[in-house]
Amino acid sequence: LMQLFRPLDMLGWVYRSIRQGLIDMEAMFDLTDTPAEIVDAPNAAALTVPNGHVRFDNVAFGYEPERIILKGVSLDVPAGTSLAVVGPSGAGKSTLARLLYRFYDPTSGHISIDGQDIATVTQASLRAAIGIVPQDTVLFNDTIGYNIGYGREGSSQEAIEEAARGAAIDGFIAALPHGYDSMVGERGLKLSGGEKQRVAIARTLLKDPPILILDEATSALDSRTEEAIQSTLSAASRGRTTIIIAHRLSTIVGADQIAVLDAGEVAERGTHAELLAKNGLYAELWARQAAERELEEVVGDPA
Ligand code: ADP
Ligand code: MG
Repeated sequence: LMQLFRPLDMLGWVYRSIRQGLIDMEAMFDLTDTPAEIVDAPNAAALTVPNGHVRFDNVAFGYEPERIILKGVSLDVPAGTSLAVVGPSGAGKSTLARLLYRFYDPTSGHISIDGQDIATVTQASLRAAIGIVPQDTVLFNDTIGYNIGYGREGSSQEAIEEAARGAAIDGFIAALPHGYDSMVGERGLKLSGGEKQRVAIARTLLKDPPILILDEATSALDSRTEEAIQSTLSAASRGRTTIIIAHRLSTIVGADQIAVLDAGEVAERGTHAELLAKNGLYAELWARQAAERELEEVVGDPA
């Protein structure tokens, strides 16, 4: 009987692996919308990240050749520091994140990590070094525990639960009928935008990468939950190269540098205080959001 079972086990394993591959692929496609054909350069080396110095050097890019999205962006993020990228929607902020993760290659210019052009290293090593909490998170059709544990292969249940606590999703999971074994995704429990964001944050906390990208990572959360998670995220980004894309400026006042991206160009750059003193685009955005915050305090949080 065992002899009959063994091939079946094998078949099950192969099936699961293939299925996983397909599902992961699906998620990738969703993440990128239209994935370009990014392949490793012949003899690509593994990226090494002794420090985590990230540089965008005159990067231009368009999803379609006739429509340029980034027009020569240069940004320097010294190792262990934080860069906040703010600016109107459609300015190209998420595009910067996608280029750093190498979902696409720049049309011209270069992106480097610790002096290595990311186009010359293996994608696997690049993506192992970067943790990204995307604007829209895609969940796998699997358990919520798997979806968090995906951040780091072979994680213990304790580590998964600790990450869930850090992302303030532990209480939600505890209340599910099957806890961490509850199925989520299209063929399981549908999570709200805010719940998915917290799963993505937990996944990234678990991954514990040297470089962190937070793309409006708390945008779908109400301000109380956002505050709760903000301290975890600040702690996670301390001493780690972090790129924070933010809509709410109040969350990035402490960033080491802030770049205002406008129509694919860096319009302003500096610290919060420097940019306020400049009285330009950032100061204008800040004043507008301060007025909105005051209004929220009077009428209550719309989220
Ligand atoms: P932001 O994050 O600043 O709101 P994005 O980087 O997401 O802006 O998008 C910048 C511009 O690129 C937008 O005009 C958007 O419509 C366009 N864009 C984003 N993704 C794609 C895509 N996959 N294909 C074509 N255009 C895209
Ligand atoms: Mg965006």
